[in-house]
Amino acid sequence: MQDFRNIAIIAHVDHGKTTLVDGLLKQSGTIAAHKELQDRAMDSNDQERERGITILSKCTSIAWGTHRINIVDTPGHADFGGEVERVLKMVDSVLLLVDAFEGPMPQTKFVLNKALQLGLRPIVVINKVDRPDSRPDVVVDLVFDLFANLGADDHQLDFPVVYASAKHGYAGLDIDTLDTEGNLDALVETVLRHVPAPAADASAPLRMQLATLSYNEYLGRLAVGRIYEGTIRQGQEVALVRRDGTISKCKVSKLFGFDGLEQVGIEEAVGGDIVAVAGLQGALPGETVCHPDHIVSMPLIEIDEPTVTMRFMVNNSPFAGQDGKYVTSRQIKARLDRELEHNVSLRVELTQTADAFQVSGRGELHLSVLIETMRREGYE
Ligand code: GDP
Repeated sequence: MQDFRNIAIIAHVDHGKTTLVDGLLKQSGTIAAHKELQDRAMDSNDQERERGITILSKCTSIAWGTHRINIVDTPGHADFGGEVERVLKMVDSVLLLVDAFEGPMPQTKFVLNKALQLGLRPIVVINKVDRPDSRPDVVVDLVFDLFANLGADDHQLDFPVVYASAKHGYAGLDIDTLDTEGNLDALVETVLRHVPAPAADASAPLRMQLATLSYNEYLGRLAVGRIYEGTIRQGQEVALVRRDGTISKCKVSKLFGFDGLEQVGIEEAVGGDIVAVAGLQGALPGETVCHPDHIVSMPLIEIDEPTVTMRFMVNNSPFAGQDGKYVTSRQIKARLDRELEHNVSLRVELTQTADAFQVSGRGELHLSVLIETMRREGYE
């Protein structure tokens, strides 16, 4: 029986999140490190690298002895604030990763603030302590001041600190006696010690809450969430308690767990774990999945309403057809429908003309990411 920990990671771009997760994956020995690193570079969203922020919340899962640590990425922009909040509700702590020279950056404040408000007690990882210009003591003080400014309580202010070099694969609790030939055990042990293990009874009736959506080309919408209690099995009948209070019966047509950076098909999963489920027709974040004979409804998580609206239309200029390969309204509609399967705060409405759609999103960034994704796919 595995013993779970669920944490989110908050980091400013370039402070070493990818390197740290890769280092943990390598040292945990669950997968061939080289393959993982290659996959990772290919998998990560191009626009995330270019824009320097996380757009999608991805889950990485690391097996460490009998423990399994699920690490969820947090989107780094206020346009994705609803997503941030939903992701943070799925975890029991956060790792705040900070560059030992630069210190905490204003861009991480938004997510950190949400984590503190939700009562999570972060673990602070001071990374890149191998840098000759690193100033770990100063940076810890800056983090403390930031926590205080954000209204952290005494417990949160008393955060554990781990000093690390993700690049060289070592970590320790005391900056003066760091073993530069060592490993990342001190970080993992800190997570195991400070993050509460989910108190979940695998034999209780199923209770799971959905936090985010993802999309699979063959299976359509996948609902990702945390199992709070009980066991979920492939093929099982479940009840889905909808946002409007209605209940629908669904079948778990496929179940995925996370292993390293991959989603892998599994037969069953137990309380405490984070899984992706196919077959929950039209499921939305915040909804509860439970046993049909034991209906429970978990407190809803708010979904942010759109704030910006624009029209997506067929190119009717003299240059139409020169820039892309998907140009018809049918193609645009099919693409937007697919996006609606997982882009939670997006709305699409038909207009009076057949070749225009009214698309609403959380902000300029939210919409521009979609527009740029579609452009790169060949939509004009
Ligand atoms: P991310 O944007 O947070 O995912 O950052 P990356 O993991 O891509 O790292 C950004 C840069 O910092 C890369 O060039 C890494 O090699 C470097 N880096 C990451 N961790 C360390 C570290 O512990 N020490 C040093 N010196 N460089 C690091």
